Amino acid sequence: MKYYSRAHNKSRNQRPPDLYEYFVDNFWFKAADLENQKINEPLRGSHKADVVIVGGGYTGLSAAYHIRSKFPEKKIVLIEGACCGYGASGRNGGFCIATDLIRESDVENPEIHQKNVEVSFYGMHFIKRMIAEHEVDCDFEENGMLGVALNEKQAQELEDYGEKLKSFGLDSTFLQGEQLDAQIKSPLFIAGLHVPYGANLNPAKLAREMKRVVEDLGVEVRERSVVTRITPGKVNLVDTELGDIRAPVLVIALNAYAHKLGFFKDRVFPINVFQIATEQLNKSQWESIGWQNRQGLYDMRAKFSYLIPSDDGRIVMGGSDVTYYDNDAICSGNDKSVTPKIKKDLFAFFPQLEGLRIEHSWGGTTTYTLDRTPSVGVMGDHKNIYYGVGMSEGVPTTQTFGRIISDLMAGESNEFTSHYVVNRKIPYAGPTSLRGLFVRGGMWMMENFG
Ligand SMILES: Cc1cc2nc3c(=O)[nH]c(=O)nc-3n(C[C@H](O)[C@H](O)[C@H](O)COP(=O)(O)OP(=O)(O)OC[C@H]3O[C@@H](n4cnc5c(N)ncnc54)[C@H](O)[C@@H]3O)c2cc1C
Repeated sequence: MKYYSRAHNKSRNQRPPDLYEYFVDNFWFKAADLENQKINEPLRGSHKADVVIVGGGYTGLSAAYHIRSKFPEKKIVLIEGACCGYGASGRNGGFCIATDLIRESDVENPEIHQKNVEVSFYGMHFIKRMIAEHEVDCDFEENGMLGVALNEKQAQELEDYGEKLKSFGLDSTFLQGEQLDAQIKSPLFIAGLHVPYGANLNPAKLAREMKRVVEDLGVEVRERSVVTRITPGKVNLVDTELGDIRAPVLVIALNAYAHKLGFFKDRVFPINVFQIATEQLNKSQWESIGWQNRQGLYDMRAKFSYLIPSDDGRIVMGGSDVTYYDNDAICSGNDKSVTPKIKKDLFAFFPQLEGLRIEHSWGGTTTYTLDRTPSVGVMGDHKNIYYGVGMSEGVPTTQTFGRIISDLMAGESNEFTSHYVVNRKIPYAGPTSLRGLFVRGGMWMMENFG
């Protein structure tokens, strides 16, 4: 077993991350029984396809699903360096946030706003459709979400956020005192905002199940196939460690890893985020914190944390800080430097759980753009390279991006292809050497000046 060390990360000429080491101490992988699952054979030799998708996270898998549905005759090959779900898609906080693709500045225009809402909610509807139509088992629970405030300023921010949601035409309930206590018991929480739309799930199970679904639909999935180079052209050439494949249409579904292959280098920051999973709580521990409605919970600090109950009765918690590694390096997955901060937050929120064991801790990489907005579209001299990138929160958004990619490919003109994120130019992220400073400076500003 070989871990991708921090020292190795610092090398400038690193090859794409060592994607053969999926021994990350990730609870979701364990709960998805990844160790005993079949990981597909690598791509060997030279091949041709109509569409090649690079990256087996939600963006790649959703693109595979939607392209397959629109173009049943096309040969679609998905190339994944490790195994589907190895990246952020299999490691995240399990929060399904339905509102990420709504823009405040469009509220004044009801027609556009309504379309944005529809597009934004599509990702979650699509996950529900896969559960209903393809029996996808991913511990999905549509319990809504609860934001909590630790001080008066944050309580006001929550109330304001509730008003903003109202202007979007979306419900929310502001909670204090006994009403909040009935949802969650913490000496630190002074107010909360509950929204009924939002869900929790096991992200790795979702990715692995999506792999099954797209394979059942006829997509060829190659795992353990690290792409080493992409040569764009009328026919794009994708080299892997053991083979190569040519296709007139390419989908770059690499999010935080895209810069390793030369894409979006100047536009996105890879940001490393961390998670823990506790041991299973017993009945009296659950009773001591309430939380019987099992909503996804997050707080309002700049370095916020977020937590969900797992299907088997643990608390899975993440956030509390983020880390930027020099030279845009990617998180090994086993960097535990943020674990003590998450643990500290957990027991500050719930001192009644003091002594609860932390059984797993892991990290993963997602992206930030300077304006915190993702982009999906098509690029290249031949307009044949589709992409989705910059999803800092992306559990439902990536699903939507797969749909948008297929609609663009089909030349359709609809609310998806005209959404404001489509072909959006991402602002310049600044020189790589200064990005660490930007991230730390940005966090400091947010912490101190909101
Ligand atoms: C710790 C953490 C917590 C998060 N929490 C949440 C949350 O609660 N809710 C939310 O909405 N979002 C959350 N996110 C963000 C969300 O997980 C991502 O936005 C989303 O999963 C991105 O999906 P993707 O398919 O675009 O990228 P990824 O899932 O990262 O997929 C990219 C894939 O490309 C593969 N790859 C990389 N390089 C190569 C190569 N050279 N050759 C072949 N394959 C390659 C990788 O192995 C990977 O499987 C979190 C992210 C992290 C890291």
